[in-house]
Amino acid sequence: MNEMPDVQPHDEHNATLVSNVHPPDWVNPEPAERYNLVVIGAGTAGLVTAAGAAGLGAKVALVERYLLGGDCLNVGCVPSKCIIRSSRTYADVKSAGEFGVRQVGDVSVDFPAVMERMRRLRGRISFNDSAQRFRELGVDVFLGHGRFSGPDTVEVADKTLRFKKAVIATGARAVQPQIEGLAEAGFLTNETVFALTERPPRMAVLGAGPLGCELAQAFCRLGSQVTIIEKAPQLLTREDRDAASIIADAFRRDGIAVMLNTTIKRVEAAGREKLLHLETDGTENATTVDEILVGAGRAPNVQDMNLEAVGVEYDERRGVVVDDKLRTTNRRIFAAGDVCLKYKFTHTADAAARIVIQNSLFGGRKKVSALTIPWCTYTDPEIAHVGMYERDAEERGIPVDTFAVRMGDVDRAIVDGEERGLVKIHVRKGTDKILGATIVARHAGEMISEITLAVTAGIGLGAISRVIHPYPTQAEAIRRAADAYNKTRLTPFVAKLFKWWLRRRR
Ligand SMILES: Cc1cc2nc3c(=O)[nH]c(=O)nc-3n(C[C@H](O)[C@H](O)[C@H](O)COP(=O)(O)OP(=O)(O)OC[C@H]3O[C@@H](n4cnc5c(N)ncnc54)[C@H](O)[C@@H]3O)c2cc1C
Repeated sequence: MNEMPDVQPHDEHNATLVSNVHPPDWVNPEPAERYNLVVIGAGTAGLVTAAGAAGLGAKVALVERYLLGGDCLNVGCVPSKCIIRSSRTYADVKSAGEFGVRQVGDVSVDFPAVMERMRRLRGRISFNDSAQRFRELGVDVFLGHGRFSGPDTVEVADKTLRFKKAVIATGARAVQPQIEGLAEAGFLTNETVFALTERPPRMAVLGAGPLGCELAQAFCRLGSQVTIIEKAPQLLTREDRDAASIIADAFRRDGIAVMLNTTIKRVEAAGREKLLHLETDGTENATTVDEILVGAGRAPNVQDMNLEAVGVEYDERRGVVVDDKLRTTNRRIFAAGDVCLKYKFTHTADAAARIVIQNSLFGGRKKVSALTIPWCTYTDPEIAHVGMYERDAEERGIPVDTFAVRMGDVDRAIVDGEERGLVKIHVRKGTDKILGATIVARHAGEMISEITLAVTAGIGLGAISRVIHPYPTQAEAIRRAADAYNKTRLTPFVAKLFKWWLRRRR
């Protein structure tokens, strides 16, 4: 199967995208006699594996059935961050009065223009992932569905690729929740929402994970009336409760209807409208919308690859089974990215690809468990995290001290009008060893890297207090948390000693 991509709408930007990442006139090369690596899937994991391995001199084949760049470029990070940027701009302009900036006339969102900007930028960025560029890097790019056809062969579009090692990097896709009437009523996922050219007047977002939260806020700010529906009692269930409640407050201020503890009983199509029958805390209610966006989980792409025949174990929910070195149950086949990892992010797909290159080609012993993985949800404010949560430490019986600073106590956040947020850093009790941190701030995604560096390099919180941070910056919140830790070192005995010493010096 070589799906010819139909990327909607058909305009010059999407034509650029397709000509880069699935050129209609692409002719698959003649396969080499044998490849060091055959990589199935050309999302972040596959692209990084292929480019890195070819750069080191390996003979590499890269197989992609749809669009090179995978989810991140085409229907994930890139388009979502484009529209988030537009939505933030509108929110900033709307609140300009608070900064003494008066606007003349009405400000409004030109939704088709927002989406066109997204398509234009996505088309521009797509060159990095293009088939042509990878060919120039020395990678043999094959367009078509890849499937194992023997112990050391992959079949794609009537060609057979013989490998020494193979990598499964086939990613994941949106899960369709089993809700009565949903399929009949119709719904959007991340695979279709970025094709919209008209703003849905009313939208229900099912699931308040990172994807649901980011898009709920973006569409709300772009003018849709948004209801976000989550069965758990908090948004972003993985996150620190205090941090998540700041996001919930921000959503309510934006005008999003936040429905927690809510399950969807059934969906009814009523003409072009969709009626959702809900139950919140045991009470039945209903809401009518024009579009439903499903953001309720991802399922790994493990189907139709003949994995059984090559002894690669997998689970329909958790994906390809790998060990800590990313080896599958077939020692010649590795996996990377969303198809096998717990943390489904572009940067983890990238990090996993680097591990796979070393372990598959050079007998390396790199381990996933050694990675320090941060993440960020790009709501406004953003919420970023690295390492353990307080509850993780509790579960493992590790005592912690937590140092927290409110952004409202940080000068730069005050002058920026971005006071809603916090920095929370957990250290092993009685030490400065950083176990984890959560940041809620407008640019928390940028700020978390300081802590990630510290955790990766084994730098303690005490050392961070010695790092001079430019004044005024929001990252000073991190240093203030470190200062708070330093104060704990001033034990009553040391304080007494200092007092005695200073009295003598008067
Ligand atoms: C809306 C949204 C927003 C996101 N935002 C962020 C973000 O801001 N930051 C972040 O870090 N992550 C984000 N992510 C997650 C990120 O997109 C993924 O973690 C990342 O794309 C995973 O890369 P991958 O290579 O593992 O898989 P994918 O990108 O899914 O690529 C897998 C590729 O394999 C191909 N394929 C599958 N089966 C076969 C086969 N049998 N033969 C040939 N080809 C095959 C697919 O067509 C696809 O191109 C977001 C995801 C979504 C949905």
